[in-house]
Amino acid sequence: MLSTKMQDALNVQINAELWSAYLYLSMSLDASNKGYKGIANWFAIQFKEEQDHAQILIDYVLARGGKVALAPIEAVQTEWDTPLAMFSDTLAHEQKVTSLIDNLCRIASEEKDFATSSKLVWFVNEQVEEEENVRDILDQLSMVEGSKMGLYMIDKELGARVYTAPSVAE
Ligand code: MG
Repeated sequence: MLSTKMQDALNVQINAELWSAYLYLSMSLDASNKGYKGIANWFAIQFKEEQDHAQILIDYVLARGGKVALAPIEAVQTEWDTPLAMFSDTLAHEQKVTSLIDNLCRIASEEKDFATSSKLVWFVNEQVEEEENVRDILDQLSMVEGSKMGLYMIDKELGARVYTAPSVAE
């Protein structure tokens, strides 16, 4: 059984994943409003992935006989000055999520909750990937800063991203 401390921490993380989903939907809408179709697509996929992250945690808490209590989702920013600003915020946000996951791992370890520690490995690895992907896009955006043609090319490339459901080892 999950300890109360572990269950509460997982519930907080479920809220954080849903907040991430909301943030990325907001970025997708802002990009769409400004004509960046590719960036809008990239963030729309992020939106789906964050919902998947929340669902994975929800399924896990239920599998352990725990209780999920959904908390309100805080408001998110709705406009960004440039795609560069949007991706800078994304990297900062993902770095924050990484520290949240690390903190969950620490609690699981303190609670000697080996099943939760095992489940969290997927999230630890996912965060490495998330940060790397966003850093790569940020590097590209920095390279072409000021070039509309460069931005056009990046937007086109991000438009090719396709959603795939996460494969989580049970
Ligand atoms: Mg996530």
